[in-house]
Amino acid sequence: MGSGDRRDRERIRLSGGLRRRRGLRAARNGAGPHDPAIARTGSRQMTNAPLKVLCITGWCRNGSTIMGNILNEIPDFFHVGELHFLWKNAAGRGANESCGCGRKLVECPFWSTILPIGRPAGFSMQAHADVVIRRQLGNVRTRHTWQVLGRGLHNEEIRAHADLMTRVYRAIAERSESRVIVDTTKIPGEAALLGYLDGIVPYYVHLVRDPRAVAQSWSRPKEYVYTMSPAKSTGYWSGFNLASHAITRRHPERSMFLRYEDFIADPAGTVDDLLRLCETDPSANPLTDRTIELRANHTVTGNPDRFNTGVTVIRPTDDTWRTALPKSARTTVATLSWPLLRRYGYTDRNGRA
Ligand SMILES: [Zn+2]
Repeated sequence: MGSGDRRDRERIRLSGGLRRRRGLRAARNGAGPHDPAIARTGSRQMTNAPLKVLCITGWCRNGSTIMGNILNEIPDFFHVGELHFLWKNAAGRGANESCGCGRKLVECPFWSTILPIGRPAGFSMQAHADVVIRRQLGNVRTRHTWQVLGRGLHNEEIRAHADLMTRVYRAIAERSESRVIVDTTKIPGEAALLGYLDGIVPYYVHLVRDPRAVAQSWSRPKEYVYTMSPAKSTGYWSGFNLASHAITRRHPERSMFLRYEDFIADPAGTVDDLLRLCETDPSANPLTDRTIELRANHTVTGNPDRFNTGVTVIRPTDDTWRTALPKSARTTVATLSWPLLRRYGYTDRNGRA
């Protein structure tokens, strides 16, 4: 893509509300974490109200990227994409190195001011990424979800990771001048950790999509997204959804279960529900029926559709898999996803897949 396109998108993005425009302009001008103007704003925000993080969980290909980008159009909301992968992707070791704004993460005016946070003196970005990735793999993978929920900050490594994430979320809120950060990471261990971050209140959406539609999506390569077999996709689907359920059961008063199919059937009504979940004014809903104008964003990875801007219409149904996914694969997915397939309402009235 050309630099002109990027400039246009930045211009469009910056045409949003005055408060957000000020924050991004400061970032674009290279204002660092110790910029006095930003520091003043940040300290006021931190003392007045806790920071909200809306965490969209579930297994990949569940529609979290478009949901996050819709929410990104709400004043005071800021969609960061999959924040867990910031360090890995910025270091060139992830699926892609691009921000939603089209620049490399290390060159993005927003993330280039966030990446130095927590980096010890004398450490290169690569060396710091090594440390962060090691802590993530050792403490907040899906398999660690129940340990994090039960034992919290139980060792030095997870305390260090929690401290980093707390500082990063706060800095994101300050620089974007937002009150609700939308994180579509979907790594359950990381989602479970949110409840232990000082001054941060997590809200959870457990977003589930029919595993047959998910398997069909994984069968098609798309830009930087690799493919996965239906059996493997469904194994992850079950594991990630069970872990997500454990998290929302821990925080029932700030959690919501949502099927992707119900979201696309009534996008505007669903966003109303999400705003109520976050205790935010529903009049801020940016959707008109199923239409929204998306501007460029600063998402760390996610579905490649995150780069799309302009008028976007949410399609009402998601049944391509019925004809595109081979019958043998449909049977495999239905078998491996049982009994969650039935629990989530993806069987007919006779209980058949
Ligand atoms: Zn960016």
